[in-house]
Amino acid sequence: MDSYSTKNFQSMKFETKTIHAGVHPDELTGAVMTPIYQTSTYAQSGPGDHKGFEYARGHNLTRDVLQNNLASLENGLGAVCFGSGLAAMDAIIKLFKSGDEIIGSNDLYGGSYRQLRAVYAGFGIESKFLNLVNPEILHEAISDKTKLIWIESPSNPLLQILDIKRICEIAHSKGVKVCVDNTFATPYLQQPLDLGADIVMHSATKYLGGHSDVIHGCVVCKHQEDLDRLSFIQNASGAVPGPMDCFLILRGIKTLHVRVERACDNAEAMTAFLLQHEKIGRVYYPGLQNHPGHELAKNQMNRFGGIVSFELASDSMDDVHEVLKHTKIFALAESLGGVESLMTHPSSMTHGSIPREERLKAGLKDGLIRLSVGIEHQEDLIQDIENALSVI
Ligand SMILES: *Cc1c(COP(=O)(O)O)cnc(C)c1O
Repeated sequence: MDSYSTKNFQSMKFETKTIHAGVHPDELTGAVMTPIYQTSTYAQSGPGDHKGFEYARGHNLTRDVLQNNLASLENGLGAVCFGSGLAAMDAIIKLFKSGDEIIGSNDLYGGSYRQLRAVYAGFGIESKFLNLVNPEILHEAISDKTKLIWIESPSNPLLQILDIKRICEIAHSKGVKVCVDNTFATPYLQQPLDLGADIVMHSATKYLGGHSDVIHGCVVCKHQEDLDRLSFIQNASGAVPGPMDCFLILRGIKTLHVRVERACDNAEAMTAFLLQHEKIGRVYYPGLQNHPGHELAKNQMNRFGGIVSFELASDSMDDVHEVLKHTKIFALAESLGGVESLMTHPSSMTHGSIPREERLKAGLKDGLIRLSVGIEHQEDLIQDIENALSVI
């Protein structure tokens, strides 16, 4: 059952791990691809006499294989999967109790902010949100109540880069753990546990799944105590993913490195196009030399990712709406990280649950457009944006 410990994937390169780590031919039939164990329960030959599988909320082999694969990609001790990214976050927050405080970075995914503010505040878990571009402010900000720092880098949608290593150093010096939402970077571009983080969380809905056809989340742990507790919560709270969804994520991961490479190529080409266009204002991409986090991103990431955000040169919201309505390849839709290109308007879509004042304070302007650049031909993608800009 525990192929994770028996197969020597630690010596494998990332591109081999995506396909092989934790994965093994099915013992019964030799099936090369992991079967979808679509069952809720398992027969016992006598009471308590079973093969390690009792009930599928607790154990499912398709899920186990995925968890082992994910743990190896993030260089973690183990992984625990959930029915969505926010369910994964929910399980992590359940590690804490009333009176504890969580410090979040100030431009978190809107749903992460909402969960802390509109769900867990009601259970007495406090949260505050700070601009952690200068990590040194944590010396002052961390109090006796602080138990966790929750960060995203690159952040959504402004692509702010945070110094993961330094944040972990300061947090650890005060006995505080750090969780990195690594959804945007993916383990191919950035491995937060190696930079010092204690927990990594993913919305596997995005790049890991990669085909915009499944909602899924996971947590990868560095410490046995967290892994044990999260595995307990997975069963005790029960927000488990279905076996079919686990299979789809496993399949998506097999091409993660190829997809992300192409998305980075296309995002770089798109950025170059946007920069020279007279109707475009500010462009946000960590690969740009003048991006304030550029050097940091070069150090802690392998490349700069597939997400590009921009503002129009004009302040007109009508113009923003026209551009959003006139692309043919880029679909106007929430989400990111799929093979297909998507565009969103964060202030009215993904970040609508953050009060406008807070959004503006974090630098998120009403007119910002975010692109999730897919793996289509880059000339078609650029042409599509050029056409949309020509209507304003
Ligand atoms: C989408 C997303 C989430 C939430 O994940 P779901 O799978 O939609 O629940 C969390 N963090 C980031 C950065 C995301 O993009």
